[in-house]
Amino acid sequence: MTINVGFMSTSTHSSADAVRTSSTVTDRLVEANGRYAADFTDPGMDARPVLRVAVVACMDARLDLHAALGLELGDCHTIRNAGGVVTDDVIRSLTISQRALGTRSVMLVHHTGCGLESLTEDFRHELEDEVGQRPAWAVEAFRDVDQDVRQSMQRVRTSPFLLHSDDVRGFVFDVTTGLLREIDPGTDSAEGRADQA
Ligand SMILES: [Zn+2]
Repeated sequence: MTINVGFMSTSTHSSADAVRTSSTVTDRLVEANGRYAADFTDPGMDARPVLRVAVVACMDARLDLHAALGLELGDCHTIRNAGGVVTDDVIRSLTISQRALGTRSVMLVHHTGCGLESLTEDFRHELEDEVGQRPAWAVEAFRDVDQDVRQSMQRVRTSPFLLHSDDVRGFVFDVTTGLLREIDPGTDSAEGRADQA
């Protein structure tokens, strides 16, 4: 019932697209799913990722993880958020990924031109001014993408909840060339821990 109400509600915003097609972008995605399912056959897969790897990446629309990394359906877990930052909730997913679903490797993918580079923690204060409540989460904005990847690797490696932290590698994806650049874990761990606190 809830689904029907949402589906049938009329869009009142003035986007040219919505006026022209009288359907929302979600309608379009649902229609695409119908076509996808028409050709879909049950691959009979187990939920455990075939390559035993979890990829943590930014949500950026220009980063097509499966295409960029040659991944097939069922190969990996993909965990995405703004920045590809290793937050407590990412640790939650990685913990379940390793302990319940058998992954052993972690790959971190940040990218050039990330939206988080243009934000600061002022974003939180502005939010607080606007809505009267400060969010519990950090914005996790950064200036130096390499350093942010190092900090994320460090957070994975030092998590007490993970079973496997020996194969943790971090990369920056160049959105203009499609190439990954690996980040040396380096020696900036102390700074990383300080930022996390
Ligand atoms: Zn990003």
